[in-house]
Amino acid sequence: MMRKYVTLSSSSSPASVGCSNSIAMVCVSRWKTSSAAANEKFKKRMEERLRIESEVKSKCAQFPHRILTRPAAALDVKAIRHQTFMHHVVALTKMAAQVNAISFCGQKGHWDARVVIMKSNPDMKEFEVWVNPEVAGYDDRNSVAPMYGMWENCASCGAASAWVVRPQSIQVQGYDEYGNEKKEVLNGIRARLMMHELDHLQGKTIIQQALGPDFVVSQSALAQKDLWAANFPSAEAHMTAPMQFFDYVTNQTIVPPGFEWYFLHMMQQQFSDLRIK
Ligand SMILES: [Zn+2]
Repeated sequence: MMRKYVTLSSSSSPASVGCSNSIAMVCVSRWKTSSAAANEKFKKRMEERLRIESEVKSKCAQFPHRILTRPAAALDVKAIRHQTFMHHVVALTKMAAQVNAISFCGQKGHWDARVVIMKSNPDMKEFEVWVNPEVAGYDDRNSVAPMYGMWENCASCGAASAWVVRPQSIQVQGYDEYGNEKKEVLNGIRARLMMHELDHLQGKTIIQQALGPDFVVSQSALAQKDLWAANFPSAEAHMTAPMQFFDYVTNQTIVPPGFEWYFLHMMQQQFSDLRIK
């Protein structure tokens, strides 16, 4: 999972507080020139970024690529400490960054290894690395643990988004990138990202983990959620926007901590799209 929602909107208004009219006109004219140049530069940078994103995405293993339909290979400590391991991790983090993913697994980069990288906040520069992560009781689908529902997307599942229900908190154990054992309780978005990637390590994707066929939609369809039939595909899935959790304990939607800016930006974009109609 999961890609940041990047938008191209960058227009803003010139500030002219405290200027006389003539000075203001010069200011506005200069602002227009510099703003047009800045916009052009920004547009070029974004176009280049999107070009790289789409090129690299086409190189990510796509479900049902065989590497994504079977369990990934576990690594022993010797393999983690071998010099080729870090080489693979660096290549994987580069690929994840280029496709704007905040979590990624070895298989997506054609590396048959139980390796997960993730960020708890889209603005973080570094990814945390987990090797052979394990969550006790993860396969227990009858668990009564508090759950979140979320529309997830995936760099290996094309344009699909799926409504997936997962525990709010999990205890994970595995190794770091240096081969040291680590054990940690993950909450919120970190738990969500880990479980998404853990599914890949077990040969599954959001499509298998969705509640049913009605809970798999395209990202374009998700942007038109206001036009779906009432309570389709379920009341909670219907009321939950992308980048939000539905909390099954409080029956409310929440934005995961660290994602507030992206959520607001995305909602503003959606409103401006609605205005275009
Ligand atoms: Zn994925």
